[in-house]
Amino acid sequence: MQIETHKVVTLNYTLTDKDGNIIDKSTDNSFAYLHGANNIIPGLENALSGKKAGDNLNVSVTPDEAYGERDEAKTQDVPRNMFPEDAEIQPGMQFHAQGPNGEMIVVTVVNIEDDTVTVDGNHPLAGVHLNFAVEVVNVRDASQEELEHGHVHGPGGHHHD
Ligand code: ZN
Repeated sequence: MQIETHKVVTLNYTLTDKDGNIIDKSTDNSFAYLHGANNIIPGLENALSGKKAGDNLNVSVTPDEAYGERDEAKTQDVPRNMFPEDAEIQPGMQFHAQGPNGEMIVVTVVNIEDDTVTVDGNHPLAGVHLNFAVEVVNVRDASQEELEHGHVHGPGGHHHD
């Protein structure tokens, strides 16, 4: 069975950056996604179309097919008193904040100086070239319920109460 829209695909993958550092991996048959439902980044999803169980592939994904380019305008200085008084602010901490269009975004603290905190609203993988080593473990038809929800149920997928 080939990977195409509305198939449920189980994958093992190792994700590395251009220097070979491992960013993320899942190699115990525990990751599954619904093809054609924007569950995974477009660059990887496109490369998987037409593949079948047992196939191995290496996929190189540029930022525009992954998490976008970094936008320096999303880095900004905010006053320390915008944060809870009792919070110990440290680089690497993440906070929910409101974006320019009112949407909820996650910002990462990158620097603290006196009464100013510098935060970065870019996705942590923005601007990063991603390399996936992928093994296709299984391909099956999605259930009607999975199609309605837009995600996988059962092993490797969502669990509802
Ligand atoms: Zn569901």
